[in-house]
Amino acid sequence: MFEKILIANRGEIALRIHRACKEMGIATVAVHSEADTGAMWVRLADESVCIGPPPAAKSYLNIPSIIAAAEITGANAIHPGYGFLSENARFAEIVNAHGFTFIGPKPEHIKMMGDKITAKQAVKDAGIPVVPGSDGAVTTEEEAFAAARKIGFPVLIKAAAGGGGRGMKVAQTEADLAEAVSTARSEARAAFGDDAVYMERYLQTPRHIELQIIADAYGNVVHLGERDCSLQRRHQKVMEEAPSPVIDAATRARIGKVVVDAIKAIGYLGVGTIEFLYENGEFFFIEMNTRLQVEHPVTEAITDIDLVREQIRIAAGEPLSFRQEDVIFEGHAIECRINAENPRTFAPSPGLVTDFHAPGGLGVRLDSALYAGYTIPPYYDSLVGKLIVHGRDRQECVARLCRCLSEIVVAGIETNIPLFQELLVNPDIVRGDYNIHWLENWIKSQAPATV
Ligand code: ADP
Repeated sequence: MFEKILIANRGEIALRIHRACKEMGIATVAVHSEADTGAMWVRLADESVCIGPPPAAKSYLNIPSIIAAAEITGANAIHPGYGFLSENARFAEIVNAHGFTFIGPKPEHIKMMGDKITAKQAVKDAGIPVVPGSDGAVTTEEEAFAAARKIGFPVLIKAAAGGGGRGMKVAQTEADLAEAVSTARSEARAAFGDDAVYMERYLQTPRHIELQIIADAYGNVVHLGERDCSLQRRHQKVMEEAPSPVIDAATRARIGKVVVDAIKAIGYLGVGTIEFLYENGEFFFIEMNTRLQVEHPVTEAITDIDLVREQIRIAAGEPLSFRQEDVIFEGHAIECRINAENPRTFAPSPGLVTDFHAPGGLGVRLDSALYAGYTIPPYYDSLVGKLIVHGRDRQECVARLCRCLSEIVVAGIETNIPLFQELLVNPDIVRGDYNIHWLENWIKSQAPATV
């Protein structure tokens, strides 16, 4: 087992990884930008190294600085968290080439799944159903028109290198197509330095259902059930739950087997998430994330499996400690992503947290590096905490979540907590009856923002 792990990330996920390491008796190294000196995860780590100025490109994405920090501190392995360098195959290669262990999948699989066109082809070949769409990249206008006619309108144009919902454009009819393709292409070029795009049927009422898988180096692959991440704004997840209110045990077992067989065929290592859109009882693959997900705690809550601990064990060459039949799903869990933002306009709201009080009680988990007196820097993602609540069933979970949302205090900045308080008493959400377009429609139906 590793003696020391460097955590190449910040905020709540750096703290989350630190916690798993401590419970395993592993020392931690925090790396941080000049904006994060004195942050909670930096202070809790056994050692810390400043790796550059505030902008992420100069610090959390600065590969030479991170490798130097690992060398100076004598770390054995590097955990990338999510975001930043977590899905950068080149980073994984460099980490391994310098004699450290990258806590994540093999670089070849990061590469394969990082390009959504090759990912779609690879999983299709391995037996996973995909969203009907173009055969690979669409490069000319003629190709776009031919593909759209075959797929049927509306179509979605997506960036091959896409992530975070960027580079995605809908064309309702033929009249919109040329412009949608060129906008998606220029957005993709600006965001990812790669303007390759492809097309898919634009599904009207799907839910976003994703399967958590875990694979060791000995060919053992287990799925840990699904998460339902249908509550989204701008194609980004806002709240997640497990299990999905619309997936029964037989459906779970069926898609679980398809996914596990495919992951075995690919020879994947570590944790990963296969994302699907689910409509009229059918699953359609959209992408695979080759890393720990933000929403992993809801799976941990219902399976009682520590995913970060398992990631570390697998990277150290240990076999999975459980088989598929050992995985038991207990109760229901929901996660709210707490963002430092205005709950109506969604404008970021960094700054000084003047007061902070965490909710507590049975089945309550708060993953956050906030404290009273902490200043949220303006340079990074607005996610500042995750409230994860577990109950014996969905109804108990929702009631407990409402109770927690009335207890939590984050003062001095704006957060989206009031938004969750409204959503969790909405009859559709209480019933679990919502799809990926529900939140956008609800926001539109509300009075216009006055701020
Ligand atoms: P990203 O990597 O940018 O997050 P994804 O492929 O994971 O992109 O898709 C993000 C979200 O965009 C999905 O959860 C869904 O809400 C929406 N989306 C993606 N593909 C489609 C599709 N074919 N039809 C309708 N919505 C889609």
